[in-house]
Formats: sequence, structure tokens, C-alpha cells
Amino acid sequence: MYNLRLLRNLLPIAGHAHPRWLASQHKRRPQPGSLPPDRLEQLRSDLFESRQELSGAEWTEVRQSLVDGYKHINGHNVDAVILGVCSAPNQLALAKNYVEFLRSRGSKPNAATLGRLLRVYNAAYHERPLSEAEQLEILQICRSLQAEHETLDASSCENVIHGLVATSGDDWQRGLPLLEMMKVTSTPSVAAYCALAEKAFSVATPEQELAWRLLEEMATARKPPKCEVYLALLNHLANETAQLPAQLSRLLQFLERHEILVSQRVAIRLQELSSQVPQLLHTRTTHLGALGKCQSCQQHLQPVAISDEEFRQLRECFLERVLIRRDVFQRSTPEEVARFKKFVEKTAPYDCVIDGLNVAYSTGTKKTPQQMAKLVATVVRHFREQDKRVLVLGREHMRNWSKQAMHYVHSNASLFLTSNLSHDDPFLLYATLRSGQETDFFSRDLMRSHAFHLGTELKPIFRRWQQEHQFSLVTQTQTGQIIVKEPVRHRLCAHQVAGTWHVPYCAQYTPHPTDSFEVPANWLCIQLKKQTTPATKTKAKTTR
Ligand SMILES: [Zn+2]
Repeated sequence: MYNLRLLRNLLPIAGHAHPRWLASQHKRRPQPGSLPPDRLEQLRSDLFESRQELSGAEWTEVRQSLVDGYKHINGHNVDAVILGVCSAPNQLALAKNYVEFLRSRGSKPNAATLGRLLRVYNAAYHERPLSEAEQLEILQICRSLQAEHETLDASSCENVIHGLVATSGDDWQRGLPLLEMMKVTSTPSVAAYCALAEKAFSVATPEQELAWRLLEEMATARKPPKCEVYLALLNHLANETAQLPAQLSRLLQFLERHEILVSQRVAIRLQELSSQVPQLLHTRTTHLGALGKCQSCQQHLQPVAISDEEFRQLRECFLERVLIRRDVFQRSTPEEVARFKKFVEKTAPYDCVIDGLNVAYSTGTKKTPQQMAKLVATVVRHFREQDKRVLVLGREHMRNWSKQAMHYVHSNASLFLTSNLSHDDPFLLYATLRSGQETDFFSRDLMRSHAFHLGTELKPIFRRWQQEHQFSLVTQTQTGQIIVKEPVRHRLCAHQVAGTWHVPYCAQYTPHPTDSFEVPANWLCIQLKKQTTPATKTKAKTTR
């Protein structure tokens, strides 16, 4: 028996002081399944990292101390917790050793425990090729999990998918029905989607159409794909350069359509790929100068403005939803909507539509009604000084705000007050779109749900229109002056200008990117050269 003394020092024993990694655990009560990372990190670094196996007595003590030491750890979840702690790629042996320990004492690991073990196999698979024996073990676990439960819960589906993709051969495709099974209860997780899409791009004969379908599904569900999926595609293209022009332009169009920013890892891989095949691809990192000028190729990025035809489509679709489907003004009464439409018919068009309450609250909600009214009046003055016709939307309770400031608003703008319960943004969008293509609006609201409800075709058009026309308040200075954020007039997502792609990237992957219109600091300037066959080369020469 070795190191039991070390273990005793590490683990709490009744009547003794708690070891470092269990100290003060009573202070916060973590959710089941998640543990205070610092304490468990201690267990990982002080014990698990240096070991490939533990004796039965040591495992018994680890297990018991976790059950005793944490309120939310019990006999049912402790095994999965332990495997969650030894989840690093090089801890597969230790994780398997624990499951063997469980079996040796006659207990059967539950689905969560086996699921965690599959994740450790998957972590190891990303570091080194798994042996045939290891792959057979994975398949055995997957089979037993599926045999025992006709329908697996979403997290078991995700775990089995992670197991299957770590094997060679076609077994990974059995993960696809599991992805469908996940859809019964919710949208499949990013991890499940990515594991399958990455695999589909990486297998010897890639299932590209499948991978692209999964990517589209993810992006449509607002789940940005992880870097690994793009890297799998780029790694494949590094070996199959004949496919590079078509597949890479498909990737760039995908990023454009869904306004996705790739991470620096992907940007670096793209640059490496360029130096590998300079005849096909030319990539440079770049920054934007004033007015969106690329510092590398000196071209200006495309203006964000949409065409007349696109504006017509957008307006028609939005107004149709107002007039026919009536799902826009959900929290307003039909009488209020009718009164508003009549008001707009009478007073439109406007140059700028201001969400009064949004403005009032945008420098904090703890202002007095007098300060808020003054702020709205200052914003109205900002536009009146430019001779703009202004509509201010507000709520009934604003009538009680400072008489003087509200009098200024009333005499310098059209003012429409809705009931206190209504949402303002449908009114704002209606009045702005109804007024015409040049009309701007003033609000900090990101209008996410409106963009989403317009559907995949119109959403990017709406977003471009929004970017071009949305003003908002940055801050108010001590002297009462306002600083207004003006729209950025060039596009902020991947797009082509005269055959050159400009692709923004961010430092690292984020599962919840912001929808705000910030100019990304880092860009790639990419020229995709068409691979020409000798015949077309000659033709190209003669026509020039
Ligand atoms: Zn450029």
C-alpha cells in the first residue's frame, strides 16, 4: 500500500481539518454536476496527475471523502464526478482504473459515469491515435448504453457521440440518429454538433455535404461552430488542394451569411495554408483604416447599405407581419396598434425615430424623472439642430416627467405614448421602415428577436439595414452634452470586395458572440486564386 499517507493528508477525515482542496467548500453550494473548480483542481493536481492507477483502498477513500465532504455529491453521482476530475487526455488509464475498481467491488457504473469515461477516451483521441483495443472498449460501452435505454437523454447522446467519433471505421455515423434523438427534447448542443461535423470533415473520405448540413443547422440555431470544425476542414484541404478553391469559398460564404467571426487559431491555420499553396491562396493579416480601408490591399470594405429592392422586401415582410400575421405587436392591444398606425399615417415620414424610454434609461436607471426627460430632450435637440423630422416613442408614464423638458420634446418632435406594458421596438421598427429607406432610428436595443423572426433569407438584410440606420447614446458628459454612436457604414462580417475576401477574426471562440455592431480589430485579407487548367490559361491569355 503506497501513498495512503499522502492521500490521508489530502482528504478530510472525520474530526480533522479539511485539506486544502476541500477547505471552505461549505461557503458556496455548487450546482449538481459542477464543482468548485479550485478544490477539485487540487485533487487533480495533487493526486490524479501523477498517477496511472490508485489502489482499491485509495479509491474507496477518495470516493467516501467526496460523498462526505460535499452536500451535492452522493452515491449516485460521485463516480461521474471522479471521472470528471480525471478527464485530461493522459488520464485515460486512471479513469479506466477507477471503472475497473467499481466493477471489482461488484457495482455497475451508471450511464453518467460511462458517459464521462467516453469523454476521456475522446480527449485521448484528440492527442494520439487510439489502439484497436481501446476502440473496441468504446464500442462496447456505447453498445451497452444503447442496449439498456431505448431512448437516451440528451447528455448521454452527447457522450455516446463523443465515444463513437473517437473510433475509426464507420461507427461514428451511428451518432447521427443520436443527434436526431437529442432534437426530441431540445436543440442539440454545440459539442454534439461539432464532434460529428469535425469527424465528417476528417475521415479519409470526408462526408462534406453532411458536415456542411450540420454547420448550417448550428448556425441557424445561433450556435456558432467551434474552431475544431473549421480546422478539420482546413486540414483536409491542405491534403486535397484541388478542392481548396471551391471549399474555401464555401466556408467564406458561410461565415458571411451567418456573420460568424472565426478565432485566431483558424486565422493562423489559413495563413499556414496560404504559405503551403501560394498559387491558390494569398492571405495577409490586416487592420482597417479610416472609413474601412484595408491597410493591406488599400481597398475600401463594402458599404453596408442594402439595395432598394432589398429594402422593399424587408419593409414588405415586416409590414405584412404587422398587418396579416399580427405577431409583432404581441403586448399591445389592437386598439393601440390601430391608433398608432393612424398617427403614423398622419405624421410620417420622419428622418429619425427615437425610442424615448431606451434613451432615458441608457445612462442608468437610477436617474430622476427630471434628468431622464432632459436626456430625451437633448437627444431630440441633437437631431432638430440638423433639421431632422423626429418621432419620439414613449410610455404613458412619461407624461408625469419634467413638464419643461417634455414640452420641448412635444414642440420639436411628434410624440406617441403607448401603454406602460407595450414593447417599444415593434413601434420603432414600424415607424422607421414605414418612413422610407433614408430613415434612421435611435435605440440601444439589439433587435435580436425581430432579426430572428424575419427568417434566414431576410435576417442578414435586416441586420445590414439595422447597422446602417441605428444610432445610440454612448454617454452623457458632466456638462450634460451627449455623445452619440453613429452607425459604421462599412460591412463588419466576412465579405468580398472586387474578388478579395476580408475576413474578421477574434482572439478566441465564444459560444455567445455579441450582436452589437462593433468593428473587429483584426482582419484577414484573402485572395483566392482560381486554379486554371492549361487549356483555360491559354484562353485567358488570348482574350486579354
Ligand atoms: Zn484587403
